[in-house]
Amino acid sequence: MPSRIPTLAPPRPLEPTGPELRALLYAAVEHVVELVDGLPAAPPHDHTGVDELLADPAVRRPPPEHGRGVDELLAVLDRAAAKGINSASGGVFAYVPGSGLVSAAVAELLAGVLNRYTGLAHPAPGLVALESDVLRWVADLFGLPATAAGTLTTGASLATLSALVTARTAMLPPDFRAGTLYVTAQSHHCVAKAARIAGFPGAAVRVVPTDADLRMDTEALRRAIDADRAAGRLPFCVVATAGTTNTGTIDPLPAIAEVAATQRLWLHVDGAYGGFFQLTDRGHDRLRGIEHADSLVLDPHKSLFLPFGTGCLLVRDGRLLAAAHSPDDDAPYLQDLETGTLPDFADHSPELTREFRGLRLWLPLHLHGVAAFRAALDEKLDLAAHVHEQLSGIPALTVLGPPDLSTVAFRCRAGDAATSELLRRVNAERRVLLSSTRVDGRVLGRVCVLNHRSDRSRVDEAVDALRRYAG
Ligand SMILES: *Cc1c(COP(=O)(O)O)cnc(C)c1O
Repeated sequence: MPSRIPTLAPPRPLEPTGPELRALLYAAVEHVVELVDGLPAAPPHDHTGVDELLADPAVRRPPPEHGRGVDELLAVLDRAAAKGINSASGGVFAYVPGSGLVSAAVAELLAGVLNRYTGLAHPAPGLVALESDVLRWVADLFGLPATAAGTLTTGASLATLSALVTARTAMLPPDFRAGTLYVTAQSHHCVAKAARIAGFPGAAVRVVPTDADLRMDTEALRRAIDADRAAGRLPFCVVATAGTTNTGTIDPLPAIAEVAATQRLWLHVDGAYGGFFQLTDRGHDRLRGIEHADSLVLDPHKSLFLPFGTGCLLVRDGRLLAAAHSPDDDAPYLQDLETGTLPDFADHSPELTREFRGLRLWLPLHLHGVAAFRAALDEKLDLAAHVHEQLSGIPALTVLGPPDLSTVAFRCRAGDAATSELLRRVNAERRVLLSSTRVDGRVLGRVCVLNHRSDRSRVDEAVDALRRYAG
């Protein structure tokens, strides 16, 4: 008699068997190697055929009831990724370029597979220790004291929000609406955005003039603070930029720190773009004064070449960071979790559950060694100096600088329309991508060298194209 044996355990299609898992990972590994090998030849940008891509039902379809093969899915991914700006390409000198260390992507894979809970120390003390050690290393790099604490965020914007909320909590009364903070027209817009999200009215953000080199005018800062106090406002924070997004200019950090100290203001330093140049001798020299920061924002996904999604906040007095971010009441559902000497990252951030972000820094730093990062950043400084020298020799251009960091800004003597047209022609070759900005109402072209894959030959392609079309 044929027996009908009931299936005792349901099949587990969500958990691949060993061989299935290997096949999935090998497919991904092959794909990653091909992607990286293809980068030198891949166009850094391509916006042709975007409408067709977005209208293609083979790309944009709801998930099927039964799964499809990974090869088919990787092909869809390739098609979707082919359009737009290829931030992984060394040909991108636009905005502040991304990069994408593959070792950090490997860390992300490992962290996801481990899937340990690192919002609190108790569930993963060893892993929280690794992340905490990385943060300590960063704090030491910037000369912050043992009291410093920090948190890894998804980017500088969220780190800035946490920094402003920390400053607000530490420096202002519960009704903080008269609080005033000081930026320049060159500060990143994430500061004003953070102030608004943190509940400040628009008038709270005071724009201090810059000098001819686009650096904060500290005398003007002093006068603005005095005038605001006389008008009954509550000056509480000054934001210095350690490498502006437009031109890579570093504000006069020692002088601003001096004003902050004498006026008893919180010194916030935005090092999202420039911060990790601190690893180099030249950067360390130019960033002098950064060690006075009460809060410091960095973007490992910029000047540490990580894939997008990693920012960093450090606060000189870690208790103030915790005071602004830890919950008022004990949460009874967390009562089984004892805390020891390790940080509970949830007390330093708006987040509770989050991925094991620290591995993205820990693995590349330990795998490649700090010297590799220092050398790469030194190379970016050298390349920018080279671009500056080369562009300065083109008669049709006015070149700002020399650059503090790795951004060279220029304009056509013939005017804004000529500058925009020059960039359009250079970009149309699709070997490099440059972007423009506006400073004091005038269009500036920029070459920002920050991708670890941008080498001398790619930089020279940008220079040669600029020379060819500048006329
Ligand atoms: C990029 C940048 C930011 C914003 O960082 P995100 O990581 O994009 O949120 C802030 N400040 C400066 C100077 C930047 O260059």
